[in-house]
Amino acid sequence: GRLVQGLTKTRDNIVSGLDSIFSGFSKIDDDFYEELEEILIMGDLGVRATEEILDSLREKVKEQHIKEPAECKQLLIDSIKEQMQVEKAAYRFETEKSVVLVVGVNGVGKTTTIGKLAGKLTAEGKKVILAGADTFRAAAGEQLKEWANRGGVQMVGGTEGADPGSVVFDAIAAAKARSADVLLVDTAGRLHNKKNLMNELGKINKILENEYPDAFRETLVVLDATTGQNALAQAREFSEVTNITGIVLTKMDGTAKGGIAVAIQSELSVPVKYIGVGETIDDLEKFDSDAFVEALFS
Ligand code: GDP
Repeated sequence: GRLVQGLTKTRDNIVSGLDSIFSGFSKIDDDFYEELEEILIMGDLGVRATEEILDSLREKVKEQHIKEPAECKQLLIDSIKEQMQVEKAAYRFETEKSVVLVVGVNGVGKTTTIGKLAGKLTAEGKKVILAGADTFRAAAGEQLKEWANRGGVQMVGGTEGADPGSVVFDAIAAAKARSADVLLVDTAGRLHNKKNLMNELGKINKILENEYPDAFRETLVVLDATTGQNALAQAREFSEVTNITGIVLTKMDGTAKGGIAVAIQSELSVPVKYIGVGETIDDLEKFDSDAFVEALFS
């Protein structure tokens, strides 16, 4: 349904190439693997993941004495699924008292994602509070405020230049006072100053540990799928500064670079929990990597 529709461009990007080699090659030789490698890399699966997928495919072909290129298709799909295997995505913050820290660089769709999450949780009857701890940009707080107003959700902080730690501190107090179910925290994502970013997120985590110890903690990194390999690089960098527990891949609608989900999930060993498939409040979907691989490659 919607997943396949959203992935049309990514599918076109990958599947036509695959079909032509599965039917165009008469035997499984080095040229075949080379062409396959090129298609996967062009499909944004990433160099590392592609190599591991092909190693696994070669092994399967050998073990099962496969001779026909066409018979490789299912084996390739299996290898990609295996490559993406991580601990099954858990959504504890949807059912328990939680804090969700959201990190990501400007423009990736962080504010929109927080708005979507707030809308979804509110619709499920949860009491949500937003914390605008991305105080570096004035616009960030204002934008978040708009989403908060739209969803009738309370928001704390977000004034430009305020200390992010004190915003979180105040937000925790508000969450306690109102018995909130989920506190969604928008944080700054200035990767060009990694030391500062690490300190800032470290401070926020410390405050959460001390002031809100009984809340389950989730850290989601938001990445823009349309940036392909750049999104992978950002994922690596964020994983160096903080403990990421889930990935949100935005703008999966209309991009040809959706294959980046394979690279990111397998390299970080962290599940992609949601994908963004549009700009409105309902355009956030849970991600299932097996269904994704089936939709893309079969
Ligand atoms: P932020 O700077 O990371 O907070 O980014 P914003 O939330 O302001 O989003 C940047 C732009 O991307 C906006 O125009 C959003 O409407 C758009 N956007 C966010 N998520 C998606 C998505 O899943 N699909 C599409 N097509 N656009 C999105």
